[in-house]
Amino acid sequence: MAGTFLFGSCGEPQLSDAPTLQEDQKPPVTFPDILNSRNRSSSGRLEDQLVSTLNSTLFADANIKVSQVHVCMLNSVNKATTVTTVDQQFESTLSSRWVTNDTRRNWNGDNNLNDLDWMFFPPFAVANGTFNATPIYQAMYNKWEFGGSCKTLNIDQTLYNTSMGNPSLILGIGGLPPADLPLADISVIGFLPASIFEAIFGSPNVLGVAFSFVFINPDTGEPIKTTRGKEDKAFTEVWFNNGFSWSMGAAPGKIDLESVILHEFGHTLNLGHFGILQAFTTNGVTKLVYQPVNTMNAFYIGEPRNFLGPNDKGNYCEAWGSWPWN
Ligand SMILES: [Zn+2]
Repeated sequence: MAGTFLFGSCGEPQLSDAPTLQEDQKPPVTFPDILNSRNRSSSGRLEDQLVSTLNSTLFADANIKVSQVHVCMLNSVNKATTVTTVDQQFESTLSSRWVTNDTRRNWNGDNNLNDLDWMFFPPFAVANGTFNATPIYQAMYNKWEFGGSCKTLNIDQTLYNTSMGNPSLILGIGGLPPADLPLADISVIGFLPASIFEAIFGSPNVLGVAFSFVFINPDTGEPIKTTRGKEDKAFTEVWFNNGFSWSMGAAPGKIDLESVILHEFGHTLNLGHFGILQAFTTNGVTKLVYQPVNTMNAFYIGEPRNFLGPNDKGNYCEAWGSWPWN
């Protein structure tokens, strides 16, 4: 469904063309049925399945495609002996990269092409119906911008209003289909129903996810690589799972909002998962330990990670140290 379009006869401005969303209510969310884990072919990593499914359906004819999907999960270990490496990932920066002065992604029309513009969607900015995430979003982008050690990039907020329509390229929202074009470089959709995560990821443990999109050469279908051999980033979309019990600060059985938001925003700033997670078992009691502690560790283990670790800062500088000279 494509919204209501009215056609006038005399070339008058058609203000009613723009799809709008209702304010003051949580609009229903839908996703393409092909994304359901039951409907996907099940070979390969979950993240790779999602990339190929999205690109062969929703974005088959688009000039931007999904490059990577990063899934942040809650980890729990049932049984381990002595020291076990549960996970290790060392993707300091992503395979895709924002390009300075990129006229292709003047999505919000501000002509300020050396900044990154992020936007959040107000109807889903409250976690568990209790915690307003808006100030946390702002604080966590500030933490990266000013605490990432290399202050080269301006991270700006673009305000959403309902006349802009659907801020998601993947989800149907409030009866509107997925948008054709981004509204900003980064769209933080917000805290979405758990049912969506369970259907798409086939797991109840997904805390948040970041979809990284890149520009495609329409002639070859291949990603365009302008700088450092990396794919030219077009857009990133972020979701959080409202099915968890969120909290301000780490607490037993709860998930710290700042830790997970800071982590997902790291993905929007070109950073990948980085670090080792080990399980130490002593006298039958298992304790999970990061080596070292970074916000970009792939898994959340119940401890606060609402600060930038040594690798977070180093990788941020690798990604942004020479900006805007690329
Ligand atoms: Zn992640």
